[in-house]
Amino acid sequence: MSDHHHQTKLVHAGTRRSQYNEVSEAIFLTQGFVYETAEQAAARFENASREEFIYARYGNPTVAMFEDRIAALEGAQDAFATASGMAAVNGALFSMLKAGDHIVSAKQLFGSCLYIVETLLPRFGVEVELVDGTDLEAWKKAVRPDTKLCFLEAVSNPTLEVIDIKGVADIAHGAGALVVVDNVFATPVFQRTLDLGADVIIYSTTKHIDGQGRCLGGVILGTQDFVRNVAEPYLKHTGGAMSPFNAWVMLKGLETLDLRCRAQAATALKIAKTLHGHPKLDRTIYPHLPDHAQFDLAKAQMEEGGTVLSLDIKGGQKAAFRFLNALKLILISNNLGDAKSLVTHPATTTHQRLPAETRAALGITDGLVRISIGLEHSDDLLGDIETALEIT
Ligand SMILES: *Cc1c(COP(=O)(O)O)cnc(C)c1O
Repeated sequence: MSDHHHQTKLVHAGTRRSQYNEVSEAIFLTQGFVYETAEQAAARFENASREEFIYARYGNPTVAMFEDRIAALEGAQDAFATASGMAAVNGALFSMLKAGDHIVSAKQLFGSCLYIVETLLPRFGVEVELVDGTDLEAWKKAVRPDTKLCFLEAVSNPTLEVIDIKGVADIAHGAGALVVVDNVFATPVFQRTLDLGADVIIYSTTKHIDGQGRCLGGVILGTQDFVRNVAEPYLKHTGGAMSPFNAWVMLKGLETLDLRCRAQAATALKIAKTLHGHPKLDRTIYPHLPDHAQFDLAKAQMEEGGTVLSLDIKGGQKAAFRFLNALKLILISNNLGDAKSLVTHPATTTHQRLPAETRAALGITDGLVRISIGLEHSDDLLGDIETALEIT
């Protein structure tokens, strides 16, 4: 598979066929596996190969197919699938860290990621330094010779700030620290994250990889040594495994991932360009709009600008709520990466728990709305947005 294009890998990589030679991958909906003999059971517990299974919390053939397929897409040596994106973030960080360690993290983080680095890790004696992820000088100042890892989201939620992964990796690697990237917003299709210097990549597969709003899932990608000897022991003993059914949904989601992400990103760019300068908007935020604060970086780092755009509506929360309530096609929901376009008001939902000053510092104004662009026709979505803006 390694010399094929990623579109081909997304359809074929990792496939394991049963004795029936099925075309579509089978769901091995089983907790356990039968051994022919006591000796075989003993041998498998001592050292199981990638094709030998023990218990679904450790691994399962359908889950292994998903892991191998996404590893092939990302160009990673190995992957471990998890029950949710947060199980992946938790697994990657806690499996690597111990009391006394020092880490540096971007402060622009998904709410639950922020809870892990700001509240949970310090509770276990890990020293955490939060920096403005877009400021390489701040990373340089914060990283120390004893820094264990740097953590960041490549594109931040919901203000879509882009972090220079190569810049952070050069600083981190210079100090012997690893770089862990939560890459949900950039997607595995638009960004070669390992080539940019990331050591560990995390996805919530709940988002684009399912892409049709059905299942929770997550995945951790990295070297075989890291995945099998660091992440796996932590995850298999703490219970964050992906279910075989969810793995099957994610596996089938991968087959159409490239097509969906490209279609959604093309629509997002078209809508962002059309709305830019709209009299009812203070700002239209999209990484591939020329007035984006990190436009050059976003163009260099991401093949497309992603499937999410944010609008800062004039008139604060009142206007933003009127806009959400007037939308007919775009649904109010906090997920993203779905085939259905979804809109959320971060200040009162996903980022509600943050103090007002923190929200302000992150650029999450009361008028900001985040739109995850789906697979609908761009004219229908634009019509919905423009009509709703008229009454704000
Ligand atoms: C959604 C999301 C998560 C959490 O994923 P779940 O599957 O909901 O647990 C983590 N990081 C980012 C950037 C996300 O968008």
